Amino acid sequence: MADAPDIAAGRLGAAAYAANFGDVEPPLDAKRALIESSRCLFCYDAPCIEACPTGIDIPGFIRKIATGNVRGAATTILAENIFGGACSRVCPTEVLCEQACVRNLSEEKPVDIGALQRYATDHLFAGKAQPFARAAASGKRVAVVGGGPAGLACAHRLAMLGHAVSVFEARDKLGGLNEYGVAAYKVANDFAQAEVDFIMGLGGIQAWPGAALGRDVTLTQLRKDYDAVFLGLGLAGVNALQAEGEDMAGVEDAVAYIARLRQARDQAMLPVGRRIVVIGGGNTAIDIAIQTKKLGAEDVTIAYRRGPEQMSATHHEQEFAQVSGVKIKHWVKPAKLIGKGGAVAGIELEYTRLGTGGKLEGTGETFALECDQLFKAIGQTLTPPEGLKVEKGKIVVDGEYRTGMAKVWAGGDCVASGTDLTVQSVQDGKLAAHSIDRALRRNGHG
Ligand SMILES: Cc1cc2nc3c(=O)[nH]c(=O)nc-3n(C[C@H](O)[C@H](O)[C@H](O)COP(=O)(O)OP(=O)(O)OC[C@H]3O[C@@H](n4cnc5c(N)ncnc54)[C@H](O)[C@@H]3O)c2cc1C
Ligand code: SF4
Repeated sequence: MADAPDIAAGRLGAAAYAANFGDVEPPLDAKRALIESSRCLFCYDAPCIEACPTGIDIPGFIRKIATGNVRGAATTILAENIFGGACSRVCPTEVLCEQACVRNLSEEKPVDIGALQRYATDHLFAGKAQPFARAAASGKRVAVVGGGPAGLACAHRLAMLGHAVSVFEARDKLGGLNEYGVAAYKVANDFAQAEVDFIMGLGGIQAWPGAALGRDVTLTQLRKDYDAVFLGLGLAGVNALQAEGEDMAGVEDAVAYIARLRQARDQAMLPVGRRIVVIGGGNTAIDIAIQTKKLGAEDVTIAYRRGPEQMSATHHEQEFAQVSGVKIKHWVKPAKLIGKGGAVAGIELEYTRLGTGGKLEGTGETFALECDQLFKAIGQTLTPPEGLKVEKGKIVVDGEYRTGMAKVWAGGDCVASGTDLTVQSVQDGKLAAHSIDRALRRNGHG
């Protein structure tokens, strides 16, 4: 094992940081957008719409691009998904709309729906246009807790429907994981805050940053003061490795490190190890691995306890990690952390296999990897407010996103509505807003 951990800031030159954290997929220009839009067959009963969790009229917006109505295209997208700009950058389209595209059958290449969506929404944002207006004031007030995609999608729809909305957000900035979690190179140039500004530009939404439920406000008070409450809390906690030595220096929570990276004004200021091991197999594992490599780490290895098919990161993301120089070791699990002078110096991993009944088990055979930093990326956990029913780590809601508690709805990652993706959270927030609206108009109360 090495003598002292090699963790340092400023491993690269300014030009390398700029290149590594610039836009990973440069946008289409007008000519390429027109050519790409002409590949759409404008299918009847389009399977791409079915595959989009927010049900965007994809052929409808592509037709508008093809006929030169780019602003109209953006409005079609944003009417269903107010985070259409973020989703065009972060959605795993390869397993959603683009996987369903019929062009895969004839040409083995789908229409580039994500890039077209980005082209249209970027065009609208550049013009600073506000395509939506608010309905007449309803006189109802709704509290939204959490300013991530679920909370803000809910707030925006409620404000459009004429309700007055207050958003309580624990952090300093709105945006949730779009601002603090998603990989920096997917949402370059402070796009997440520009999108928040666009959403807030509708009016009717008051934000209370730095106000945490459970610390600064209580659910009991919110239910008293407001006609309805929506909880879009996300998953704020992290799972433990449950391996000996987890509290050593150099063992870090990947999500917290990514948040620091996303908020750093200068990536050169962020200390990073020369040799990195990441434990996990999802988005977060892939993102921390690629970003530490982009910060100048020399050797980055992801260790995952099962095979490539079981990783929740898509095939495309795994491939991107590998072409970025990240190694992925499958069928291994942490046995124990190796420390030196109170800091992590390596990890002993045990090979795994599927035993009787398909249960994962260790083979007893181990090997060690040296590292200066070890990142835990093994899933996040919910910290639920008191009094709500929770099952399998998620708040229980019905088909209308109502919790069992009167006047309280919930959506996004804190409920089990589908996959934990930005696009699903937006859909949850939107549908919950309509449910709240129906309840408020029906009863005068939630
Ligand atoms: C590292 C990482 C990378 C990801 N990459 C992608 C990707 O590329 N594509 C994709 O589609 N999805 C990605 N995801 C998933 C995606 O970010 C989430 O599914 C989505 O952000 C969930 O939205 P949400 O609004 O439910 O929760 P969040 O985005 O987590 O927002 C919840 C908000 O609630 C606030 N909050 C929490 N508790 C309280 C409280 N007590 N009081 C007040 N406010 C509170 C939080 O501060 C936060 O702002 C990624 C997730 C992670 C962790
Ligand atoms: S499935 Fe493909 S070709 Fe058909 S409407 Fe959708 S994007 Fe166009």
